[in-house]
Amino acid sequence: MFDVEKIRKDFPILSREIYGKPLVYFDNGATTQKPRCVVEKIEEMYYNTNANIHRGVHFLSQAATDEHEKARRTVRDFIHAGKESEIIFTRGTTEAINLVASSFCREFCKPGDEIIISTMEHHSNIVPWQIQGDIFGVKIRVIPINDKGELIWDEFEKLFSEKTKLVSVMHISNVLGTINPVEKIIEAAHAHNIPVLIDAAQSVQHTPIDVQKLDCDFLVFSGHKIYGPTGVGVLYGKENWLDKLPPYQGGGEMIATVSFAKTTYNELPFKFEAGTPDYVGSTALATALDYVSAIGLENIYVYENKLLDYATEKLLQFDKMRIIGTADYKTGVVSFLVGNIHHYDMGMLLDKMGIAVRTGHHCAQPLMDALGIEGTVRASFAFYNTKEEIDRLVAGLERIIPMFG
Ligand code: PLP
Repeated sequence: MFDVEKIRKDFPILSREIYGKPLVYFDNGATTQKPRCVVEKIEEMYYNTNANIHRGVHFLSQAATDEHEKARRTVRDFIHAGKESEIIFTRGTTEAINLVASSFCREFCKPGDEIIISTMEHHSNIVPWQIQGDIFGVKIRVIPINDKGELIWDEFEKLFSEKTKLVSVMHISNVLGTINPVEKIIEAAHAHNIPVLIDAAQSVQHTPIDVQKLDCDFLVFSGHKIYGPTGVGVLYGKENWLDKLPPYQGGGEMIATVSFAKTTYNELPFKFEAGTPDYVGSTALATALDYVSAIGLENIYVYENKLLDYATEKLLQFDKMRIIGTADYKTGVVSFLVGNIHHYDMGMLLDKMGIAVRTGHHCAQPLMDALGIEGTVRASFAFYNTKEEIDRLVAGLERIIPMFG
């Protein structure tokens, strides 16, 4: 499939030691590590090709502009969008959702209108809608989940009414690993003429995505979770929606003409890219996407599922192990609790063994409330992780669990 040991050499940080132990990095859901080519691209841009883009006639400005626009085409191809004008660079998933929430509610919503989200959403797909709710009187309706951490389909269908304006759901849960049936969700919403936003923050790095096949209206993701740099992300939107949405922020680049009497706006995608974009970030993100494409997302999906299956099997050998999230279709993430051991204590002790996991509510407090827990320990995988690292986690738990009696 692919040579994991060879791949690991592309990620210098993986050979670090933490407290004298080789690092086991299982916090990929929060952010992924960066291959050397991504860091080198950032360096290369700043050393050789740095100038503000779009506005300059000089060589460097044109070269940087070319890199940024080439990056846009790389993103377009990566998610199989039809047009590069449908790719908006943002600061990340959070900003992309805020953009849609703000512009969409301003243009299309009136008091009492509803946005459907789900119980398992990350705060960044809850709070932007609540903020717009305060401004425009928009309410959220929430799809409940079952004990396995799957959306309850019948309840979802009942949420549609003449007040529904948009469905905004995550593709893969950052806590449960659940793969939501987004194709079906989009089909059902479209049957009611309702557009759908897909939060792909936890899916674009684990599974191939074709926005045209999916037929989603908006899709968002963060560069740093797919081996790219922090501070850059993507909003994909169908052209007919983006055309209708008003700008999110004002400033340079997003305008056609400005006068004190009236300002007109630029064409897509620039209408949504006010100010100097992170052109170094966008080009390094493109490098990351090329890197991932070379390995192949199909291969990545298969490999990471093997890791997940292995980890699940090993973890279930512990007596008081409770896996949080047992959906029929899941990937990438295993969340767990053991007996009454606090997730934070577990995380701290694993850290001392060089094992990085995340603990807490994972920015999904409403999900924690629904599950009746405060938080979990989460191991989230990337294609550079190995079964041996899972064995290290298991060995760590073998030492930690008896400490709590
Ligand atoms: N949505 C999901 C499902 C996530 O897991 C995350 C981050 O963990 C986000 C949104 C927010 O991403 P960012 O902080 O990169 O904007």
